[in-house]
Amino acid sequence: MTAVPRAAFTSVTRRLMGQVKIPLIASNRINDPQVAEDVIARGDADMVSMARPFLADAEFVNKAAAGRADAINTCIACNQACPDHIFSMQVASCLVNPFAGHELDVAIEPAAMPKRVAVVGSGPAGLSAATVLAERGHRVTLFEEANEIGGQFNYAKRIPGKEEFGETLRYFGTRLKELGVELRLGRRTAANELGDFDHVVVATGVVPRTPPIPGIDHPKVIGYVDAITGRKPVGTKVALIGAGGIGFDVAELLTHSDAGGPLATYRKEWGIDVGYTANRGGLAEPEMPASPREVWLLQRKATKLGEGLARTTGWAHRLLLQKRGVHMLGGCQYLKIDDAGLHLRVGDDERVLDVDNVVICAGREPRRELVAGLEAAGKPYTLVGGADVAAELDAKRAIWQAAEFAVEF
Ligand SMILES: Cc1cc2nc3c(=O)[nH]c(=O)nc-3n(C[C@H](O)[C@H](O)[C@H](O)COP(=O)(O)OP(=O)(O)OC[C@H]3O[C@@H](n4cnc5c(N)ncnc54)[C@H](O)[C@@H]3O)c2cc1C
Ligand code: SF4
Repeated sequence: MTAVPRAAFTSVTRRLMGQVKIPLIASNRINDPQVAEDVIARGDADMVSMARPFLADAEFVNKAAAGRADAINTCIACNQACPDHIFSMQVASCLVNPFAGHELDVAIEPAAMPKRVAVVGSGPAGLSAATVLAERGHRVTLFEEANEIGGQFNYAKRIPGKEEFGETLRYFGTRLKELGVELRLGRRTAANELGDFDHVVVATGVVPRTPPIPGIDHPKVIGYVDAITGRKPVGTKVALIGAGGIGFDVAELLTHSDAGGPLATYRKEWGIDVGYTANRGGLAEPEMPASPREVWLLQRKATKLGEGLARTTGWAHRLLLQKRGVHMLGGCQYLKIDDAGLHLRVGDDERVLDVDNVVICAGREPRRELVAGLEAAGKPYTLVGGADVAAELDAKRAIWQAAEFAVEF
């Protein structure tokens, strides 16, 4: 899963090297040729094995052999389309490579009539649409108002344990260049600038939803984007409104404390004893670094928090936050926000959380400001990703929906 650092378990084979007469193969979270080389060079194993990285990119070995590691579509360890699919009786595939496992059902064929296509928005949906359309021979221009591609993946990659999401953006950056997609960064595109194109793909993503709570304009209140990017400082006592995937990620970020780098921190928090000093299982008592903040993670639904998180990884996110002392409250009615903090009712109990900040992680709405202008101009367009449906959005749906459209267009 994402939280496991690269090559985190090669200590298992290292311990046996030289003691047995068979070659030892290290596995788990080895997703990059250099990481594999380092494992062998350190003498941690005789060989490495990979599984998920080949779902993400079946050409992994050829690209590595050709010295083209920059062109590899890297497995980001999300589990969202491999183990999560297997445990729900679906075909194993890959979030970053929607064609994996469907090679016999889907063919990327040259377009019968190549067209000039504008893709507006370079989040996962826009990147997926732009690259597949260009692979098929369409002439694609990709517009992005930010100065870099990636949309919300630029926020996701800042969450401790989700740094790999940056690799997807590196891959797509390479692919856009290889395919000759014209990239226009740094300016919001309006519908009246798209007259030269035959078709517009609206991949403009989402805007965070602002819940109608009295006092929502109070200076204590900040949005999740400002909290993640650090554009606004976050105090030491924080309430998070909304306990979906983003609420959990923000809680992870705000309670994270580095204990000597990602690997050392991971081993301490999960009690992994690489020296096998405590017992034969290699487990020790977890040592939780002190959280820099006291955090309340809140939701309106009365169900268990994190119930909608992914099957194979949700438990780990929940457990880690519990171990860090995050207060998790369901069934919350938000009454108001003022200088005293966040006033809420839980069941019959009214209380005030005396917090420095309230971070809003309460869902998103489709961002569709281009649509009226496109319709007025009679320009054909297709909505993909969050711009199409924001509810329950994840990158798997965004990438896959855009790829499906591009294969058929
Ligand atoms: C902290 C965090 C963690 C996440 N973790 C995960 C995860 O683990 N797994 C997962 O599946 N998903 C995760 N997600 C969700 C995932 O990032 C989104 O589902 C995905 O980014 C949606 O893709 P999109 O392309 O539809 O929209 P976006 O990523 O929002 O991209 C839209 C882009 O359009 C651009 N744009 C908008 N209007 C214009 C315009 N007029 N002109 C030019 N450009 C424009 C925006 O600047 C933006 O770059 C996470 C999100 C966050 C914030
Ligand atoms: S779905 Fe996620 S974990 Fe599975 S192979 Fe693809 S990127 Fe890796």
